[in-house]
Amino acid sequence: MTEGLSRGEEEIIENALRRAALNDYPNPDRKDCPAKKLLKRLAAKKLKPTDPVIQHVAECSPCFREMQELRRKLKRNPWLKMFIGGAVLGGVAAFFGWKPSSRTKRDE
Ligand SMILES: [Zn+2]
Repeated sequence: MTEGLSRGEEEIIENALRRAALNDYPNPDRKDCPAKKLLKRLAAKKLKPTDPVIQHVAECSPCFREMQELRRKLKRNPWLKMFIGGAVLGGVAAFFGWKPSSRTKRDE
């Protein structure tokens, strides 16, 4: 199994969410609502299509709206992408033994 979602899996989630957007599920008491960190994971597409959180969000308008908002924030936040990109680059650099502060050999 690979990390992340396949195209088909993403479609399953998108369809479930679209259904929620079309149908209104008011949930004023926020009954059975998942923790915000789970909504964040869903917004970042880090949950499996079989995760019960997805089913809940598909049937809970407040959660759906919250998740949409989190998604917008993720898209709007280039710093987060840069941070992740930088972390990956740093990891690769460290793997190859490169250090950002490597001295020039000027004084030799
Ligand atoms: Zn909910």
